[in-house]
Amino acid sequence: MSVGLVVVGSIALDSVITPFGETADALGGAAVFFAMAGAVLHPVQVVGVVGSDFPEAHLEKLAARGVDLAGVERQQGESFRWKARYSYDLNSRETLETRLGVFAHFQPRIPAKFRDAKFVFLGNIDPALQLNVLDQVKQPTLVACDTMNYWIQGKRDLLLELLRHIDILMVNDSEARELSGDWNIYRAAHWILGRGPKMVVIKQGDHGALLVDPETIFKVPAYPLQDVFDPTGAGDAFAGGFMAYVARTGDVTFPNLRRAMVYGSAMGSLAVEAFGVQRLEQVTLKEVRGRVKAFRDLVHFSLDGEE
Ligand code: AMP
Repeated sequence: MSVGLVVVGSIALDSVITPFGETADALGGAAVFFAMAGAVLHPVQVVGVVGSDFPEAHLEKLAARGVDLAGVERQQGESFRWKARYSYDLNSRETLETRLGVFAHFQPRIPAKFRDAKFVFLGNIDPALQLNVLDQVKQPTLVACDTMNYWIQGKRDLLLELLRHIDILMVNDSEARELSGDWNIYRAAHWILGRGPKMVVIKQGDHGALLVDPETIFKVPAYPLQDVFDPTGAGDAFAGGFMAYVARTGDVTFPNLRRAMVYGSAMGSLAVEAFGVQRLEQVTLKEVRGRVKAFRDLVHFSLDGEE
């Protein structure tokens, strides 16, 4: 039996407008992007909540990828809905609507069979709930966690408490700056390391991603895509690729975490090639490996005098 990989987070109906088209009530949410990306590499166990209106067909898409939905509760009421519009260059987005529905009262319950999980990803939810999830899992090897400006501002003390209990904080550059109060991203990363995590992953959108520990910095560029259709969920797909690669290999040494950074970046780049989860739900392991090799070719060079 393979080791458990659990993700806790939003399961949503996303309506997204980009210069290339729009979707309405499409399958989305942080846990969904994570699971769709991760499932290519390793089985993923999802904990979340949906409302009575959530289409069964959406959940079947996850089940078809082998995702274990035993931790997904269906409650009376509306599902979480999120609507956003991207600018013409896709570099900024405006949230048009967030309707929490049943997600407002989400109380994660980790099913007994998920509690032995060795790898845990705490998606962007209230840090009080993230801490509560940690109480429910027995002895994870690696816990990574996301957050957002809303919690950085509104629940700072609890978030700082959470940082003492996790291994990796995975945030984007603006969140790292806001949390640390430092505009310099490398100083911000070290500020975060001083609060507990062993490592920080900083996602920088089309500038790539950084893995920082107290001694080293590792940088992966963003894949140079000529066509980006929908940036939604790239960060969660990154996290799914990263964590699933670590779970698949069972290796948390630094060289392997560097490879995980590339798997994460590969998944993020695949996610944005189509609307919502459309690309991730079709992608094969062979395609993912091909993208990982392309990353290596992108940054490989020889020193003066070497072949
Ligand atoms: P990202 O593009 O990485 O920010 O992720 C976008 C996904 O996060 C979408 O699928 C949304 O449904 C989901 N999302 C948006 N706002 C929230 C929120 N406040 N809490 C949890 N998930 C959210």
